[in-house]
Amino acid sequence: MTETPITTATLGVPRIGRRRELKFALESYWSGKSTSEELLAIARSLRAANWREQRDRGISRIPSNDFSLYDHVLDTAVMVGAVPPTYGWHSGEVPLDTYFAMARGGQIDTDQHCCGKPHGHGVAALEMTKWFDTNYHYMVPEFSDDQAFALTSKKPVEHFLEARALGIHTRPVLLGPVSFLKLGKSVDEGFTPLSLLPKLLPIYVQLLQKLAAAGADWVQIDEPALVLDLIPNERSAFSYAYEELAKAAPELKIMLATYFGAPADNLTTALSLPVAGFHADLVRAPEQLADLLDCAPHDLVLSLGVIDGRNIWRANLNSILDRIQPIIAERGRDNVEIAAASSLLHVPIDLELETDLDADVRSWLSFAVQKMDELTILAKALSHGRHTVSAELAEADAVASARRSSSKTHNRQVQARLQNIDPALLRRKQNFAERQKQQDAKLQLPAFPTTTIGSFPQTWEVRKARAAHARGDWDDAAYEEFLKQETRAAIVWQEEIGLDVLVHGEFERNDMVQYFGEQLSGFAFTRHAWVQSYGSRYVRPPVIFGDVARMRPMTVSWWRYAQSQTSKPVKGMLTGPVTILNWSFVRDDLPRSAVCQQIGLAIRDEVADLEQAGASIIQIDEAALREGLPLRKAEWKPYLDWAVGAFRLCSSGVADTTQIHTHMCYSEFNQIIDAIADMDADVISIETSRSRMELLDAFKTYSYPNEIGPGVYDIHSPRVPEVGEMTSLLELAQQHIAPAQLWVNPDCGLKTRRWEEVRPALVNMVAAARQLRSVC
Ligand code: GLN
Ligand code: ZN
Repeated sequence: MTETPITTATLGVPRIGRRRELKFALESYWSGKSTSEELLAIARSLRAANWREQRDRGISRIPSNDFSLYDHVLDTAVMVGAVPPTYGWHSGEVPLDTYFAMARGGQIDTDQHCCGKPHGHGVAALEMTKWFDTNYHYMVPEFSDDQAFALTSKKPVEHFLEARALGIHTRPVLLGPVSFLKLGKSVDEGFTPLSLLPKLLPIYVQLLQKLAAAGADWVQIDEPALVLDLIPNERSAFSYAYEELAKAAPELKIMLATYFGAPADNLTTALSLPVAGFHADLVRAPEQLADLLDCAPHDLVLSLGVIDGRNIWRANLNSILDRIQPIIAERGRDNVEIAAASSLLHVPIDLELETDLDADVRSWLSFAVQKMDELTILAKALSHGRHTVSAELAEADAVASARRSSSKTHNRQVQARLQNIDPALLRRKQNFAERQKQQDAKLQLPAFPTTTIGSFPQTWEVRKARAAHARGDWDDAAYEEFLKQETRAAIVWQEEIGLDVLVHGEFERNDMVQYFGEQLSGFAFTRHAWVQSYGSRYVRPPVIFGDVARMRPMTVSWWRYAQSQTSKPVKGMLTGPVTILNWSFVRDDLPRSAVCQQIGLAIRDEVADLEQAGASIIQIDEAALREGLPLRKAEWKPYLDWAVGAFRLCSSGVADTTQIHTHMCYSEFNQIIDAIADMDADVISIETSRSRMELLDAFKTYSYPNEIGPGVYDIHSPRVPEVGEMTSLLELAQQHIAPAQLWVNPDCGLKTRRWEEVRPALVNMVAAARQLRSVC
């Protein structure tokens, strides 16, 4: 029996530092308080700490070049010289400030973002979009049809050498050329980025040669695009690319990594590539294992992604061992690695910091460094027998069974309600046309009713008060009085400027998901469990560990207070179940659809209480519904079915006279317009100002019957729109939808703006609506 230990790999680790050191270093540099040397020194120490941590915890394939100051896709663009001309770079190394200009534009960053979703910073920044189906956002590379590439940086080589100087041999990570091009966009008509592959490959070839010369024996090349729907031409791009790369440095072995799904119909392509290793995500797509084992050549090193890189639950080690032991027996120790399913970038760093978490919940969790330990335990069991780690395995079993049977995860009442969901609960009593008549009669709103999306500026005073309350410097009564004052002032002002449907302003909310999570059972919140959303923006997603139930009304008293200050209708304001789900770490012992239904029931109860208290308009935001779409088209329908179902569940319990609004922070509805219509909200507000209403096309083509509030005011910019701009947008909107369907509102909530911007903008918006009324 050979004694080669089993190889373990993480694929990538969080960059941000346990105490968010990278964020603070970046912000300090951006604000001119520190030098680039100081920033780079902190970055270097974070890398060193990551490498040492992995070594000390027993990881054998330690990644390098997974670190990035801002984003690894941006790093790749810069490395290959894909810097658009606006940034003024011509040749040579790309300066740090050019890199940051591509990331952030010229504008100063405020410390807030409105929807848990980033927005470009000023005109000059590259666009940003979601990295596959994660909540990480990457900078979208831009390519022109005459795009030239050049190797401008040797970051992967430098980091490899930097680790080696610390005595740590790493496996550099590169974003593969096909995925890189596919993630980018062309700025010229008539070509696709992938057509640039022949020009790009020589850069990768040079780089691989340099890595080999520096002493690398393996390189990890990430091609997550292999889990997407590909057309034949894209598949052949992989074959072409890897033929070329294989020739670059024959002694350098390539571990081709896929994650976030299975290659499925791309598997034959993937397995035919001339690479030494192949990584599969067996957490997201365990079903691919049989095919993989059938089709993978025996000398291909299989990297089995068995530890979840996206979620934070402790693994069931014995059951993983049961699955992979036979594979190792068959293929041999040298041909199998065990790994995190994807980079650990998407999970928080260290559970040890969470000293305030409920002890049971804490015992069920595993963050990045705990996941390293899990990999090491698995490797020991596989290399030397389970008995060598019997205590660790027994503990993992005990934790798994405690979690399964814990009263904290089970709520019989919730489960019973879920069992008894009658399809009638998902339907309003009458169809929209009938409801519209009744609502019009009740609400008596003018044509082109004006409203806002919910939040008003979270000023420095508001945030200061919240912090003082959280610290205990302000007692509940003082804080509540302060919030009441803010709310009252907002109501009085809205009435004064003539808005038709008012909002309370959301001053009491820290975040549109957290605010609700904190009031629901089944949720836990962490103190330090940050994950990178983009650049220096990190989020701390709630943890949904148990059955979700509403303990008491969550928003009614604020609504009631606001409504008591005015005779105009004030909207009840809620976050929808799909958004709460998509922005949380979700338990893995129930289908997501079931968790979403539970949240749906909780919100349904809140809707009922708001209605009972007298609210005649209730808005349920679903900012994240679209971003939850699965990577593969074939999976869209099942997702949309349950997501829309959860929305209908929470919104359909009301009388026909009660008007349900929803809001979504985007407007690309073309492919999901049926689902949006199926939500059957009486009014939907969407973001359209930047597209100049073009994106309303989908609604027109569909003959969307319900009412729509297309945003007429871009809240991402401090600029105050003129009346004329908004009337012309509203006129454009009327080319797509009937005037009777039209509401007038901004693109999104106003929490990131200042009152100095919001006041004149909304005054103008009301004037624009009045102008429209006068010509009708
Ligand atoms: N009601 C929320 C607000 O106005 C909606 C935010 C969002 O959709 N992102 O802030
Ligand atoms: Zn929004």
